[in-house]
Amino acid sequence: MTQLRTDPVAEAETAEQFRQRLRSFLAASHPGRGPKGSRRERTRWQQAWAAALFDAGLAGPSWPREYGGCDLGVDKQILYYEEIARARVPGHPGNGPTIAGPTIIRFGTHEQRERFLRPMLRGDVVWAQGFSEPEAGSDLPALRTTARRAGDQYVVNGQKVWSSNADVADWLFALVRTGTQQSRSAGITYLLIDLATPGITVRPIKDMAGGAHFCEIFLDDVQVPVANRVGEENEGWGVARTSLGHERATRALSQAALFRRVWDELVALLRERGALRDEVARDRVAQLEIRVRIMQLTAQRTIDDIRRTGEPGAASSTSRLYQSLLEQNLYELAMELLGPDALVLDTASGAVQGGRWVANYLRSRAATIGTGTAEIQRNTIAERVLGLPQIFTKAE
Ligand SMILES: Cc1cc2nc3c(=O)[nH]c(=O)nc-3n(C[C@H](O)[C@H](O)[C@H](O)COP(=O)(O)OP(=O)(O)OC[C@H]3O[C@@H](n4cnc5c(N)ncnc54)[C@H](O)[C@@H]3O)c2cc1C
Repeated sequence: MTQLRTDPVAEAETAEQFRQRLRSFLAASHPGRGPKGSRRERTRWQQAWAAALFDAGLAGPSWPREYGGCDLGVDKQILYYEEIARARVPGHPGNGPTIAGPTIIRFGTHEQRERFLRPMLRGDVVWAQGFSEPEAGSDLPALRTTARRAGDQYVVNGQKVWSSNADVADWLFALVRTGTQQSRSAGITYLLIDLATPGITVRPIKDMAGGAHFCEIFLDDVQVPVANRVGEENEGWGVARTSLGHERATRALSQAALFRRVWDELVALLRERGALRDEVARDRVAQLEIRVRIMQLTAQRTIDDIRRTGEPGAASSTSRLYQSLLEQNLYELAMELLGPDALVLDTASGAVQGGRWVANYLRSRAATIGTGTAEIQRNTIAERVLGLPQIFTKAE
């Protein structure tokens, strides 16, 4: 991500000109409302939109241009995500461009970059993340899925869990154990696994909000070419840390822009329903408005770190923690101030905006678990940002 190429035309474009170009494209090409059918149909709709953005040269705001990205500076990235959130276009399918992409750009071989990056950004190939296991979530170095070397293949056996969108994904970027079980982070390897390989079973898990967005994955004697290894054998932990840091950091700006929009919509709704006549309610709304603005600034700082150093750094945990707590508090406030009607789900009559707020309230409980729990983010901030002694986590 540090190898920046300059394109004289794009460089000469002012931020405002860029905004107008993007806004016109989004208005002219918006794919309309998503299909209500299966997850696969919805994924295809997202893929078609990702391809349209890519073909217009408007995909991957932080990606280098040689892999099809826009390579935007921080100011234009902020505009980018504001416009994307405002236009309500489909999100990118899977976890490729935010997590696996930056990792392959940094640690991948020339062949891997050429093979995987463009189809990933264009949405032609959908990626899922296979890190967590039943006994390895926060304590990821405890993972047990093994990869045994047999010639130019690895034979992978084990189980992954909570893998978002694995049911609709084509490829998995995964952490596997190549060292002994005791080797912890010194015996982990980063592999790219084609989900169509024999021996793989993917099962969706239903969540309490009624969705089934994540899956468990069983790997039974799965053959993975050694050529699909990112970085060296047993050095996957360092590679994964880059993945995790980028996951937290690059989502920061898009989430900040999204929650700016969601918050504005909530305030408008509260006003319409007369909920802001109460002084205490107004005070609470003002407090949250301040936090939404701080969130945006924190996200900008994290992205600026990446631009300067090529790495998100431990401060990405600050941004992620701030956002996840804000997301929960925003929906909690929505539930309180919208009143009992907001608890009605979309299947019943009288639901506020089709039950949108209660569904998102339920979903927001996961915000402080996914991409590392709030407790783990706090540990990271304590140890790596504030330099406090490592008394909570096992030293790696
Ligand atoms: C919506 C969502 C999407 C996800 N998507 C993916 C995905 O695509 N791919 C993937 O691999 N994983 C994914 N995950 C899994 C996620 O990374 C794990 O759930 C998370 O790392 C926590 O692990 P765990 O569930 O095993 O909980 P545990 O690690 O068992 O933690 C249980 C509790 O103990 C606390 N705890 C544990 N260790 C410490 C400590 N050292 N100090 C203080 N407190 C501690 C935790 O904070 C938590 O409250 C997803 C999770 C969610 C909710």
